[in-house]
Amino acid sequence: MKVRVLGCSGAIGSGGDARDPGGTTALLVDSDMLIDAGTGVAVLSDDELARIDHVFLTHSHLDHVAYLPLMIDAVGDRRTGPLIVHTSRATIDILQAHVFNNLIWPDFTRIPSADAPGVRFEALEVGESLVLDGRTVTALPACHSVPSMGFALASGDAALAFSGDTSSCPAFWARISAIPELRHVIVETAFPDAQIALAHAAHHYCPQLIAGDLLGIGLSAELLISHLKPPYGEQILDELRAALPGIAMRALQAGDVLEI
Ligand SMILES: [Zn+2]
Ligand SMILES: [Zn+2]
Repeated sequence: MKVRVLGCSGAIGSGGDARDPGGTTALLVDSDMLIDAGTGVAVLSDDELARIDHVFLTHSHLDHVAYLPLMIDAVGDRRTGPLIVHTSRATIDILQAHVFNNLIWPDFTRIPSADAPGVRFEALEVGESLVLDGRTVTALPACHSVPSMGFALASGDAALAFSGDTSSCPAFWARISAIPELRHVIVETAFPDAQIALAHAAHHYCPQLIAGDLLGIGLSAELLISHLKPPYGEQILDELRAALPGIAMRALQAGDVLEI
């Protein structure tokens, strides 16, 4: 499996770094699966968009779903079946009530017709796995301000875990520490330690909160840090390295391709 990072920033805008286009969370898995549909999706061509059959959503926040309504409309007439969106029942209910409500965007679960819709939602519970062409996607626990989940991907040879948006969440680390052949862990760290009050209020990680969760967990996989707020990226990485000596880590970047 190949995981191509389309966007992994905590905000749009580069924060002054011209090398980083600042797209928000979206990971393309092989050519047919997308994990989150933030503004990073903008880098895909129409052909690439039309090949996506499955979208896995961690949660309903705009930086993770902004391109979902738009991509359904953009390439719907090139597709032969609906885009299938896998996420929690709670997130489905939020998207149907607040996005696909015929006010913000048409209800594509009934357009072009109820029999042949542009999108179909399928509920997924934490702990549940789906197998698509031999590739396993498992929903993981996450602890955020709205109902959220992470995802683990397993190819049979190796695995990758992605936290989505979360704050302190021992259940996430307990679950992934049991995954065999875990090669990469993409984990968010939105704020530096000086903003720990904001991290608590917004239910995101800062370095000392991750360090607390990782104490006592024997993690051999590489940590890839995502959702950095642009002006604080270097500061957050420095604080993480100081708090977690001996753990391999780096900032995840748009354009990275991870193989498992
Ligand atoms: Zn969020
Ligand atoms: Zn987010």
